[in-house]
Amino acid sequence: MLDMPRIEIEKCNGCGLCVGVCRCGALVLIESVISIITTYECHWCTDCELICPTGAITCPFEIVIE
Ligand code: SF4
Ligand code: SF4
Repeated sequence: MLDMPRIEIEKCNGCGLCVGVCRCGALVLIESVISIITTYECHWCTDCELICPTGAITCPFEIVIE
C-alpha cells in the first residue's frame, strides 16, 4: 500500500492551502471538502501537513536521508 498523507475531514475548513502547495495534484477540493488521490507522484515533501492551519493533514511517513 502506497503511503499517502492522511486527512481528518472533520478538521478541514476548506481553505485550499494544501491544494496550492501540492506539486503532484494529489489534493483536491470537492465542494469545499478536501480529498486525496493516491498517486506514486507524491514525493512525501510534507508541505501539505506543514501548511494546513487546522492540523487536518498528517504525513505518516518518515524522510530518511542517507
Ligand atoms: S506530501 Fe507533498 S506531494 Fe504528497 S500530497 Fe502532500 S504536498 Fe502533495
Ligand atoms: S490546508 Fe487543511 S484545512 Fe485547508 S483545505 Fe487543506 S486539509 Fe483542509
